[in-house]
Amino acid sequence: MPFDPAVTFDKAEAARVQKLSIGRQRQAPSTLGVLEEAAARHTYRIFNVGPWPQHINTGSYGYFTVPSCPKDKEYVQCPRTIKGIESELIIKDESRYDRLDTDGWKFALEVVGDGRGRDPQQSYRHYGLFASKNEIPTADEIFQAKTMLHARCSEIVREARDLYAMDRKQFSVVVKRERHFVAAEVLNLNDEPWMVEQTPSVRKKCAFCGTMNEDFAVKCAKCSEIIDPVRYKALKDQQDEILEPKRGPGRPRKVEEPS
Ligand SMILES: [Zn+2]
Repeated sequence: MPFDPAVTFDKAEAARVQKLSIGRQRQAPSTLGVLEEAAARHTYRIFNVGPWPQHINTGSYGYFTVPSCPKDKEYVQCPRTIKGIESELIIKDESRYDRLDTDGWKFALEVVGDGRGRDPQQSYRHYGLFASKNEIPTADEIFQAKTMLHARCSEIVREARDLYAMDRKQFSVVVKRERHFVAAEVLNLNDEPWMVEQTPSVRKKCAFCGTMNEDFAVKCAKCSEIIDPVRYKALKDQQDEILEPKRGPGRPRKVEEPS
């Protein structure tokens, strides 16, 4: 859905609360005026200097959709902002809600992946996201964000280089246009041997529906039939090997709840 500036977070939140109250006949506690004042006093924002859009699930607070930074811009802002205090309604019993208030700045840091209990390697900050207390990010904030983004892009490019040098089969499975080529673009690299090899790409025709697919595709982009069974199996086996041990029935589900 496109961002509608007329729909503020407050309005959306009010609608959500109202809907929940009416729908389930539960009463929501009224907010203390002082909390609302404090909430309104600060606005925190999420910015992105990176080329990848992110769709971040924050559990009961819903999704933060951060667009990719346009090439001719220094940064882009996530349309959804964060108040000084974010309120969340949690079910208390059949007839009532409790209100849980969260420090907005802490929450902003968690949205970009720097929260407590998060794997710092998985932080969105490596991909150019950052939280800011400023309406317009400072030159220093942008510099810091770009530094982190460039470091991760260098790692991604190194992976492509190494695979290209050592294992062409793996290279064709792992190296992706939307990840490795985009990372190289961030670093202004365009004549790496592995990139030259991939462009112009050989297109593969799907025997099921006739669609032309990228040469590294294992499944048809249109009909989802497997067009390269050998590589499909290799990829699946490799994936299972990595994922299987974590999938046992006793493994607790990761709860993405900001605290
Ligand atoms: Zn097809």
